[in-house]
Amino acid sequence: MQTAAYLVAPGRVELRRVPVPQPGPGRVLLRVERALAGGTDRKAFARGHPMIPMPGPFGHRYAGTVAALGDGAPPFEIGQPVMGVHSAPCLACELCRKGRWHLCPDVMREKVLGAFAQYLCVPAPVARQNLFPRPAGLAAEHAALLEPMACVVHGLELIDWRGVERVLVLGLGVMGLLFAQLLPRYTKAERAGAGRRAERVALGRRFGLAPVWDVTAGPLPSGERFDCVLECTGRADGWREAFDRAAPGGQVLLFGGLPRGTACTVDSYRLHYEEVRLLGCFHFSPRDVAKAREQLLAGGLELAPLVSGCLPLSRLGEAMRRLGCGEGLQYAIDPWAVG
Ligand SMILES: [Zn+2]
Repeated sequence: MQTAAYLVAPGRVELRRVPVPQPGPGRVLLRVERALAGGTDRKAFARGHPMIPMPGPFGHRYAGTVAALGDGAPPFEIGQPVMGVHSAPCLACELCRKGRWHLCPDVMREKVLGAFAQYLCVPAPVARQNLFPRPAGLAAEHAALLEPMACVVHGLELIDWRGVERVLVLGLGVMGLLFAQLLPRYTKAERAGAGRRAERVALGRRFGLAPVWDVTAGPLPSGERFDCVLECTGRADGWREAFDRAAPGGQVLLFGGLPRGTACTVDSYRLHYEEVRLLGCFHFSPRDVAKAREQLLAGGLELAPLVSGCLPLSRLGEAMRRLGCGEGLQYAIDPWAVG
């Protein structure tokens, strides 16, 4: 038996004693070392999430060690430290054939859910494509950042960096702060930031953004325009701000998703006569995961400030409530700690 967290209703997680799953064909059973509780989990906890059924197992960012292998699973060794992401495309549909793996309708069909538990069964497509050995020097809670890093890499790869001299990172949560750190690996452009909390503004500066505006103190100076705006707020007013801040010929990466049906109006003059380009950005492909993994293994990133603390599984609800009131960026969850 093992302990696993279930999201049972908005605002409520429950710890249950459940059997340790037996890995089926192609599957890999992990002993979870750390799972990360972040923005997506907070949204799901607060109001439900289209990709996270309720009631159901909870948590999708993880790192652990191999506990058991199903028939025909990839050749990992028992006890081997691994890291991975939570989804994988089918590789067979029309979108996959076109290389748009991140838009595969089946990309979430067999996904990892249930990382807030002592054991986690990784589905066969994910084990085959997106599960990797983890080097000894990489802490489990940092290895679990592979998934958000893959999202960020996907965005950075979408941008045409030619002629980009000024970039704005709008929104300084985990994603914005990962953009801040990875940007210099993609461009020599000046990098500015704008965010909401003193702690996040300070981290933006620490990661090389200058200037960084604290938007709670007032709006950005009116003349500021950027060749590239990375929208990481996930708010409709953030989308408008991002569009308004784009210079002629500028690109706006719309990274923070809004609820289905949210309308966003833009001035067609700016789209046509100023060639402002709007880039939707969702999820990642196995290629992005590979690149994110290279970045993670290359080192030189400050990952510790992105994890605001480590809590035992029994305090997952508290982690959610802290995130809900903007306390901390994300929390590592240790399913083996007693507390
Ligand atoms: Zn597909």
